Amino acid sequence: MTGVIFDIKRFAVHDGGGLRSTLFLKGCPLHCPWCQNPEGMKRAPWLWYSPQECLRCGTCVAACPHGALTLDDRIHVNRERCDLCGICEKTCPGGALERTGREIEAEEAARILLRDRVFFGEHGGVTLSGGEALSQWKFAVEVLARCKKAGVDTAVETCLYAPREAVEAMIPVTDHFLIDIKILDPELHRKYLGVDNHLILENYEMLVRRGADVLVRTPLIPDYTAFEDNIRGIAHYIYGVDPDAEYELLNFNPLCRSKYAALEEEYPVEGGILSAEEMAVYYAILREEGIPHIIKE
Ligand code: SF4
Ligand code: SF4
Repeated sequence: MTGVIFDIKRFAVHDGGGLRSTLFLKGCPLHCPWCQNPEGMKRAPWLWYSPQECLRCGTCVAACPHGALTLDDRIHVNRERCDLCGICEKTCPGGALERTGREIEAEEAARILLRDRVFFGEHGGVTLSGGEALSQWKFAVEVLARCKKAGVDTAVETCLYAPREAVEAMIPVTDHFLIDIKILDPELHRKYLGVDNHLILENYEMLVRRGADVLVRTPLIPDYTAFEDNIRGIAHYIYGVDPDAEYELLNFNPLCRSKYAALEEEYPVEGGILSAEEMAVYYAILREEGIPHIIKE
């Protein structure tokens, strides 16, 4: 079984407990305008350009057999002409061009993830992320099954927008589900993310009924998710589903703006990291709604 991935991160500390190795799977069924990993949105491979690494030497422009590159104050990629042959990546002296996305066998992915197992300790392990990990759920199941067989703790970061059979198949191989509930109102969810959230909530409720270890997370995105009605509504809802719920609010991270600049795309989110005072307001809402386990970054 092969999957398409765009990164493997070693010694990760924000993708579950302890030190972890995280595999990033490509492709996502949602279209979050604030996505932190735009290079993971589409399943297909992609030529990534990093302006900050570029020497403006023009070597790649001369090397490209399809005339897909032009240079002024930066390189511009004509995506319709580029066939991802990789010649520019090989000739670039700055390491500014990279084909993101590659196929990998589940066996090889698991072998790479398990290389650092000696550092995982009691709480660390392996995490699958994305993109959306469950968009390639058969591959994800096989990778995690191999890790579990090796006695390693497993986690998956997911939006749960996946068929029920995919989520059910993950249960035996997943020790921790880190799930995103971003917006409670189904119409707003559809407006911003492209789909409504019924499937996500049904899958979440099923996981709780099945006794899975679930941490609910909401990224606080100014003007999209970070407003009182939304956070109160989600807290109220998850307490109703699981009175022993764990809930984490993820502060907005504006660092991904540089990725959108590299793609020559607008990043629609204004504003920056929420202050301690702003976070305190949201934590107070969680306490008012009875959330028993508030996880702080
Ligand atoms: S990957 Fe190939 S076709 Fe695409 S820009 Fe580079 S050299 Fe040109
Ligand atoms: S070859 Fe690399 S460093 Fe030179 S212009 Fe192209 S992307 Fe920039």
